[in-house]
This record gives sequence, structure tokens and C-alpha cells, in this order.
Amino acid sequence: MKAMVLKGVSALERNRQPLELVDMPLPVPGEKEILVKVTRCGVCHTELDEIEGRTTPRHFPIVLGHQIIGTVERLGSRAGRFAPGERVGIAWIYSACGKCRFCLGGRENLCAEFMATGKDANGGYAEYTVVPEDFAYRIPMIFSDSEAAPLLCAGAIGYRSLRLTGLRNGDNIGLTGFGASGHLVLKMLRYKYPDSRVFVFSRTEAEREFARELGAFWTDYTGDGPSEKLTAIIDTTPAWRPVVNALRSLEKGGRLVINAIRKEDRDREALLEIDYPRDLWMEKEVKSVANITRIDVEEFLELAAHIPIRPEVQEYELHEANRALLELNERKIRGAKVLRIPSGI
Ligand SMILES: [Zn+2]
Ligand SMILES: [Zn+2]
Repeated sequence: MKAMVLKGVSALERNRQPLELVDMPLPVPGEKEILVKVTRCGVCHTELDEIEGRTTPRHFPIVLGHQIIGTVERLGSRAGRFAPGERVGIAWIYSACGKCRFCLGGRENLCAEFMATGKDANGGYAEYTVVPEDFAYRIPMIFSDSEAAPLLCAGAIGYRSLRLTGLRNGDNIGLTGFGASGHLVLKMLRYKYPDSRVFVFSRTEAEREFARELGAFWTDYTGDGPSEKLTAIIDTTPAWRPVVNALRSLEKGGRLVINAIRKEDRDREALLEIDYPRDLWMEKEVKSVANITRIDVEEFLELAAHIPIRPEVQEYELHEANRALLELNERKIRGAKVLRIPSGI
């Protein structure tokens, strides 16, 4: 099969072709696994982190990609959840042990043996991939393959972030940063919490305008923040300054949920401005979001089909993956980027 593989870590600034188109043997599904013929695979910021070594893959060469849509091609000897030809999706969670107290307690995202698709196991920048059948999802009919792919990452993790805020309808909520996940969260908010006011903190006017179009009550960036206090805030930025500002805007007993796989060192000193009585006292909470569970993906797909949420997508051919990644890196974003993998290339 054809695949775009990453053979090692490099800086995109110097290496404009980090992925290489190669011929690989067709993967063989294990007993409880399925072989999936990939039709679409979303392109995510996490791939940039993998290429540049901020989130290093477990092995090289590796096939990246964790927002996969395809059809079941072949079943492992003990697999039976899906029929051949059925459409399935594969997300960031590739597997977890199923036995530890985190897995048994509904928090498989925290399992010590958590494996990520396209990082710890080969992903979807290829014609075929294998996955444990229990970690694949049926995709609601309403979505085309291209629309469904980006929902599997930005949508599912946005859903988890929102769940972790513990928000109730009518509570004020803030979003700091307004990228792929932020705009899906705003759509979910308008539907699930119609009486809540949404405050969007973003540096770019285009993002603020987009947020207002989607129904945000207030948009700005400056440090003073809104005049009202917020019960919950979801931060999706890679910086520390928004965290400090967010704590200042939180209501008593409010919760800041940080949905970021890492924070950069650049503006760390902003943390020294945290003033305990003003920013943390009165039972304010800070919580991060790590990975996703299968329940998050399943519940989110159902919600997205109901609302419905239809992401705007921009398609690239599989062999154009490098261009898609470079454009993502340069923030040339016109909707979610999706690779198209036609049959018989
Ligand atoms: Zn992702
Ligand atoms: Zn486990």
C-alpha cells in the first residue's frame, strides 16, 4: 500500500518535505482488530508537534494521522463488531489496557498504557490501517467522509473540555483562543446551553468576528477582561498569559479547563503575576484535558449529528500531505484540512 511516512524528527523551517511517499506491506489485522481501507484522514496540529519532536512518536518510520474515516476491509479471526464494507472512524485513542483503575473507572484517557493513533501506532496517512475493533466508531449517516474526519479530533476533545467544565445552562463561559476546537465548542454551547453567555478572548480580529457570527456575547483580547465574572473558561492556547488573565476573570468556585497538549516556555514569567487572593482564593480550580475516551467520541458524534455541526473542509490528495502540513503551520486555515485517499492509487 501507499503511505506518507515520517522517518525522523526535523524542523519544518529547514525540511519542507518531512513526510515521504513509500510503498509498505499491507498491515495484517490481529485477532480482535480490523483492517480499514482509508478514504479520508484529517490533518491536525499534533502532527506538526510530532514532526518537530515536541510530541515524539514511539517509533520511526511512522504513519501519522488520527482522524480517520474508511471502510472495513477485513476482520481479524475473533473480530465481529463490524461487517466488511461498513463505514468506520478512528480517533486519537488507539487502545488502552482495559484493566487498570483508570480504564475501569471511565478514565481510559489516563491509562498508563494509553496508545495514540498515528503516534504509538500507525495512523491514517495511508491507503490502509489496522485498529482494535473496540476502538472504531460508526459514523452517523448525515456526514460525508470529509465532514466526519475533523470531528474525530477537534470536535471530540472540545466536547471533553466542555464536559469537564461542569457548566450548567445560564452560566457564563469564556473561550481563550478560537481555533478548530473553539469554534466547534461554541456551536455545542449554543445548542446545549442556550442561556449561557459566551465570552471569546482572541488576538485576531478575524477569529473574533467569526465568534460573533456564531453567537458569542462578547469578544476581546485585552487583559482587563469582561466586566462580568465567568463560571468556566476553556483555554486552547499554547501560552501562559491567557491562563493568568483567565484566572482573573473567573467567578468564585469557577473552573479553568486547559485543553492544550503542551505550554510554551516563551511567556512563563507571566505566571509570577498570579495573585493568590485575587486569582485562586475562593475555590477557583484549574484542570487540564488529556487525550480522549471512546465515550467522548461516541457522545460527540451523536451530538454533532443532532445539532448538526458540519465542519468546513479543504481537501488535499494523500501525496500532498506535506503541503497541507506546511499550510497548517503557516496558519493558512480555510476550514479543517483533510487528505483524500482514492481507491487504487
Ligand atoms: Zn488532533
Ligand atoms: Zn488502563
